[in-house]
Amino acid sequence: MLIREVINLLEGLAPTIYQENYDNSGLIYGNLEENITGILISLDITESILDEAISENCNLIVAHHPVVFKPLKTLTGKNYVERVLIKAIQHNIALYAIHTNLDNVMGGVNFQIASILSLQDVRVLAPTTQNLYKLTTFCPHEYTQQVLEALWQAGAGQIGNYQDCSFRLEGIGTYRPNEKAKPFAGTQGHLEQAPETRIEVIFPIHVKNNIFKALRKAHPYEEIAYYLHLLENENQELGAGAIGTLETAMDELSFLAFLKEKMQLNVIRHTAFLNRPIRKVALCGGSGLFLLKKAIAQNADAFITADVKYHEFFDAEGQILLADIGHYESENCTKNLLAQLLKEKNCNVSVKISQISTNPVNYFY
Ligand SMILES: [Zn+2]
Repeated sequence: MLIREVINLLEGLAPTIYQENYDNSGLIYGNLEENITGILISLDITESILDEAISENCNLIVAHHPVVFKPLKTLTGKNYVERVLIKAIQHNIALYAIHTNLDNVMGGVNFQIASILSLQDVRVLAPTTQNLYKLTTFCPHEYTQQVLEALWQAGAGQIGNYQDCSFRLEGIGTYRPNEKAKPFAGTQGHLEQAPETRIEVIFPIHVKNNIFKALRKAHPYEEIAYYLHLLENENQELGAGAIGTLETAMDELSFLAFLKEKMQLNVIRHTAFLNRPIRKVALCGGSGLFLLKKAIAQNADAFITADVKYHEFFDAEGQILLADIGHYESENCTKNLLAQLLKEKNCNVSVKISQISTNPVNYFY
């Protein structure tokens, strides 16, 4: 299998177009056309992860966190980022990061945490906008079904639990082909009044190329009339964090004990108990405090995240149980998620989960 093929599998779940603009997800070092000897999955890429890849004969490391965030001006080995890159180049080990794009998709990091906690009715906590297009196009009546089916097949028409959504309206289109035109119907130089169906569908931005390929293939006209609009609609399937309900409500102490056990935690930093049961739980792996207000607005009883600073604990305002479980601890489950994903997609090369803890934070009790 080629590196490109494995990346296609990963990006089938989490297209890189959905990463945040500060992020650097994607192939950081490597050659897409290279054959893979083995894949090592880790949360971070450190020098010891590279040593592990070398000893496990893996020439592709798939990590959650991109080792390179800021552009480099030199490559001298003065810090661990540069040393990792130099070592990767010397040993020809490709480095790939699947970061905020994996945070933002359904089935990504936050849905994995929700599944570990057996949350029910899990939704995206903060759905994003501007990642849906509406396509309006016009075709002869008798081609309507063919065009629609091609668009659906290419990924259009999905709204929540409904597939093959569209709107169609019949009317008259006009055009006058010039002397260079080869019209499907009508004659050069004559004003044509053609019975046409106006078709409207929506689709997520990452399938845009496929949609237009499908449209050109299925539509009979030489020149296809269409409008493409970027929508402000929320995409319920894309965005930060997740929210769901526990199978059974728990008191706060039992909830923290449950969280500690399920997420394999040594310690949880949390705000004062509010003496009310925990049922609705919002969460965000990594640094998710920016979602605190959303969690409160959606009446979550608890918000689980990491990297909460002293003053930020006050922002819970006695409205929610805020729990900081540690950045590494919150996202460690990403390794299993990625391994599982590659297995489900029938990736036929050896996939190893790193056995090294890259957590830079240690605890002294
Ligand atoms: Zn993280």
